[in-house]
Amino acid sequence: MRSLFLDPLNFRMIGCPAVMKITRSIKLFEEAQQLIPGGVNSPVRAFRSVGGHPRFIHRAKGSKLYDLDGNTYIDYVLSWGPMILGHASPPVIGAIKKAAGRGTSYGAPTELEVDLARHIRTAVPSMEKIRLVSSGTEAVMSAIRVARGFTKRDGILKFEGCYHGHSDYLLAKAGSGMMTLGIPDSLGVPADFAKHTFTAPYNDIRTVQRLMRERGKHIACIIVEPIAGNMGVVPPAHDFLPALRQLTLENDSLLIFDEVISGFRVDYGGAQALYGITPDLTVLGKIIGGGLPVGAYGGRTEIMDLIAPTGPVYQAGTLSGNPLAVTAGLATLKQLRAKQLYKNLEERSAAVAEGIGKEAQRAGIPIIQHRVGSMLTAFFASDPVVDWNSAKRSDTKRYGQFFHQMLEQGVYLAPSQFEAAFLSTAHSSTDIERTIKAARVAFKSL
Ligand SMILES: *Cc1c(COP(=O)(O)O)cnc(C)c1O
Repeated sequence: MRSLFLDPLNFRMIGCPAVMKITRSIKLFEEAQQLIPGGVNSPVRAFRSVGGHPRFIHRAKGSKLYDLDGNTYIDYVLSWGPMILGHASPPVIGAIKKAAGRGTSYGAPTELEVDLARHIRTAVPSMEKIRLVSSGTEAVMSAIRVARGFTKRDGILKFEGCYHGHSDYLLAKAGSGMMTLGIPDSLGVPADFAKHTFTAPYNDIRTVQRLMRERGKHIACIIVEPIAGNMGVVPPAHDFLPALRQLTLENDSLLIFDEVISGFRVDYGGAQALYGITPDLTVLGKIIGGGLPVGAYGGRTEIMDLIAPTGPVYQAGTLSGNPLAVTAGLATLKQLRAKQLYKNLEERSAAVAEGIGKEAQRAGIPIIQHRVGSMLTAFFASDPVVDWNSAKRSDTKRYGQFFHQMLEQGVYLAPSQFEAAFLSTAHSSTDIERTIKAARVAFKSL
């Protein structure tokens, strides 16, 4: 068989005693690569940073993924965040089935959209008005457009290692997928676009202060993941978000929280509820679609009313507010509103983190663990991780070995060091015990 990757790690992986049969995945990946760039429809799925073959998934239920070769995995990727209730959650699937019978798209308004907007505003009161779109990328892109329209400024300030979707001017120093592939910036992005994007290290208030002093009057907005999730989980330093709030107010710039991951993940009100900071605009995605494609952006009425048809900032979408996607999102939010779910997620996630920490220590492997609620990362690093520069000092080769050891034992982690692991309400204590046991074996083998 032809080797698909030429990195030494991969050879070691192929050479290691793989007990798991993955012949169908391997065969399909060969064909996929003839038809789809890299064989995947989103780059991080391709296992490039860990080597080996991506698993082709046949179905998923609860905390488990089942691949085409019949292998079962406890899933900590959860479609990169959305599946907080676990896969194929009965209330969500039931609602989708019912909705599908009533037609899949109308191109006219529905009661469902009003209902979802109401649920979102109740959870996240800073989102006084909300626009639904079809992806996080689209939501961020649109939020930035309205921020620019509102302030009549072009500049934006973002943070190294934060990912905000793949729109042109946000592909500067943009987190996991880019880091993993080693593309500092994307080809195909005109320099004229990227020149409006300024970047600062995450958690580095001084650099933000300096940039705002020099450029503040040209900065439409500061956009930030209030809990960074796309360089691995990096929580904000205690004074970071308050400083961003203050600096944007001083400069008449807007503060945008990209809560595509943290929204409904760390708390029903997202990171802004957790940290008590009110942004001008918020972007949501992932969980609010319940596993179907949705994004949302919203904020102060005076800003949001600039959007067409009320105002001159254009934004539209054929499938925006799609009834199936909105139904899945609504069903998910209704389940989550029961507070007990977050308490439960917190306890289970703490147990996983604690177990992994103990096993690493027992094996003498240094790791730095970060966790906010049910999003967590173990960096294979010895020094504190506070931003992208410190995150990238992690031993990614070791992560790759750990990843494959876990995968072999039926635990599906993100195929990159620079990603969050997520728990769902479907992860049982048995799943957690099995995961910790697998980690013991994996750490020992390193
Ligand atoms: C996933 C993600 C996006 C992009 O969302 P898509 O639905 O993949 O376009 C934007 N921002 C953050 C923080 C994300 O994690």
